[in-house]
Amino acid sequence: MKEFSLIDLIAAHAGQAADDSLLGIGDDCALIQPAGNCQLAISTDTLNRGIHFLADSPVENLGYKSLAVSLSDLSAMGARPRWALLNLSLPRGDHHWVDEFMNGFMQLARKHGLNLVGGDTCSGPLSITVTAIGEVEVGTALTRSGAKPGDDVWVSGRPGEAAYALALLRSDQVPVASLLERLERPSPRVELGSGLRNIASACIDISDGLYADLGHLCQASACGAQLWLEQFPVSEHLKGLPTDQLWPLLLNGGDDYELCFTAGADQAEPVVRLAESLDLTLSRIGRIVESGPVVCSHMGESYEPERKGWDHFSGDEADEQ
Ligand code: ADP
Ligand code: MG
Repeated sequence: MKEFSLIDLIAAHAGQAADDSLLGIGDDCALIQPAGNCQLAISTDTLNRGIHFLADSPVENLGYKSLAVSLSDLSAMGARPRWALLNLSLPRGDHHWVDEFMNGFMQLARKHGLNLVGGDTCSGPLSITVTAIGEVEVGTALTRSGAKPGDDVWVSGRPGEAAYALALLRSDQVPVASLLERLERPSPRVELGSGLRNIASACIDISDGLYADLGHLCQASACGAQLWLEQFPVSEHLKGLPTDQLWPLLLNGGDDYELCFTAGADQAEPVVRLAESLDLTLSRIGRIVESGPVVCSHMGESYEPERKGWDHFSGDEADEQ
């Protein structure tokens, strides 16, 4: 019966939905009612212990981050977060763990007015899957595929911070609180994504590193890009690092959940105004070109990034059929 008392605990955290057109936790399915002129944007992500988070990460932060990574995907499409499903595979029916986890999860959910409407709870190795559902007016979602040669490439925030915090933890150093927060409690750029719907030509969120994720955007848009390292915003935490450490963090550091987007040169002013209104750093770091891979330079001198990004199966034997 433990499964049901865990679900009761989760349902108590989720609370009563304010909206009566909604049926949340407790029946065989959730029922949701999107607004008449909206499409649903749906994204799911799994976090596994040892791969996506360190075994000793605080459980409350894990709850927060599990939702943040899915809300980041909604942000990249310009969608407003509305509902979520939570699938938990737990080694033990540990109420204290679930309580802590839900504290973090619901902090972020409440911040964005999101309802937890269902999920699944089972026993197994610790694994967390969150499915987030958002709304976006028909035909206005941002995609990866709209970039055009001549567009500017922009990035939000200060890339590399999460990866630097992780590197410090891995070498048994303690990052300062504001840096650790960038790794453990990333801020999905929900308001930025919404604000970009009328401005950006293409958008992606940075989970695997800017270089790799911009590569995905370029592939979807059938174009290439030039990046200018001297234009990158450098976090105060990374200032002073030698370039052989700094540049890989800027280009390949994963887990930032910032947005990388493209916009026509005539959109630069609206982008700057949006940055001011959100009090968020937005930096123009490159340009879209006709073709080719993403190439990087520093003050005109070319730089070849070491790693291309995170690939879960890159260590596998060649076992394709
Ligand atoms: P079923 O056997 O029909 O799948 P469950 O017993 O798994 O039903 O779930 C009962 C209710 O609790 C459902 O509404 C389900 O969505 C919800 N639920 C189960 N686990 C979770 C969870 N981890 N987070 C949110 N809701 C959950
Ligand atoms: Mg079930």
